Amino acid sequence: MSGRQTNAVLILIKPDGLKKSLTGNILTRLSETKLEIVAAKMVRVSKDLAEEHYTHLRDKPFFPELIKYLQGELHDRRKVMALIYWGPDAIAKCRDIAGKTNPEEAESTSIRGSYGRILTTGLYENVIHVSSDESEAQREIKLWFSPDEIIVDLYPIKEVVHKECKQKTWA
Ligand code: UDP
Ligand code: MG
Repeated sequence: MSGRQTNAVLILIKPDGLKKSLTGNILTRLSETKLEIVAAKMVRVSKDLAEEHYTHLRDKPFFPELIKYLQGELHDRRKVMALIYWGPDAIAKCRDIAGKTNPEEAESTSIRGSYGRILTTGLYENVIHVSSDESEAQREIKLWFSPDEIIVDLYPIKEVVHKECKQKTWA
């Protein structure tokens, strides 16, 4: 790996992680990194968002099931928790704590090694998503968050004026 670099990484606590009440546990594990959380929210994942997130896997036979998994249809939990961690080597540190994609190959002390499993269909139910490199992190962060939802300026922004734009506010 090249030298230390400050970067940002998208973390998703997937529906199996939420169903198993692992949120606190996962955040505690990730806090070992000493990184800063710069954005966090709960998201009800649309099919479009799930397909765009996993667009690199569109040709895989497990793609339709993977989309259902991220949307929460396999766990009756139609939400994920999305967070951005930011700081020195954020991607490498979080990937390390997450463990390998295949939970059976992941180190037993890693998050995926501790809590993941392989479904009978072969799908890896591995509790969290972590962006794998800087370009993927940037693509994913822009997909999941708007600039206003992130408390630091990660990427260049532009300002646009919306006329007659309908927006929800408190009644
Ligand atoms: N996945 C799977 N089987 C595979 C590869 C991937 O079930 O052979 C699922 C798994 O849930 C994984 C997700 O698809 O987390 C995205 O795959 P990717 O290769 O991007 O792995 P990751 O970046 O999540 O480690
Ligand atoms: Mg990936």
